[in-house]
Amino acid sequence: MKLSDYRLFLVDLDDTLYLERDYVLSGLTAVAGELARDASEAEAIAAWLHHHFLTVGRDRILDQCLSALGRSQSSDLIEHLVGIYREHDPAIALLPGATDLLKSLASMGSVVIVTDGLPSMQARKCHALGVAQWAVQTVYCWSQQAPKPDTASVLPLLGHYDGPVLMIGDNPGHDLCMADRLGVDAVRLRQGRFAAEPSSPWTPVMEVASPAELVERFRD
Ligand SMILES: [Mg+2]
Repeated sequence: MKLSDYRLFLVDLDDTLYLERDYVLSGLTAVAGELARDASEAEAIAAWLHHHFLTVGRDRILDQCLSALGRSQSSDLIEHLVGIYREHDPAIALLPGATDLLKSLASMGSVVIVTDGLPSMQARKCHALGVAQWAVQTVYCWSQQAPKPDTASVLPLLGHYDGPVLMIGDNPGHDLCMADRLGVDAVRLRQGRFAAEPSSPWTPVMEVASPAELVERFRD
């Protein structure tokens, strides 16, 4: 079957249409702004947080930052900063080719964004990326207590659309497994956090390195 034969596209968000890393960096910038007394201190704290995230990771990053700043690490302050992170309006952008991909999927059939994560955070990401203009709806799996690969959030939709279904995502254990459970085909994008993970035991109909490559494959 050709990719252009599908009529319903279940499209993941994080690390599929944009890089989740960029969201984290954006959130850490917001946290730095909250902690700083002026713009130059905000810049320095953001640089520390970004470097720490990119080299060490995000585990306990706020505690480590407060410690580096010589500030007390109260759980109230950490909770406040986590709130700033989660509620900030992210500065993120679609990956190269993602706009063309969404346009072309929407011209062939229906696009449904299917995303895990806190619904309010995911909604802010969708708003920043402007993906609603190409999607007929967005499914926030967590709002239905059905994180991927649980199919409960998507299963009721399938009856409302005609034609073959294709899932597009980056995370084998979530997106590919979910497609398998739904009995639909999947395309794997090898990018972001899970890029090095094998697709097995699932068998996507195709693996591509980027949205731009997937656009090309739709034209084949
Ligand atoms: Mg993802």
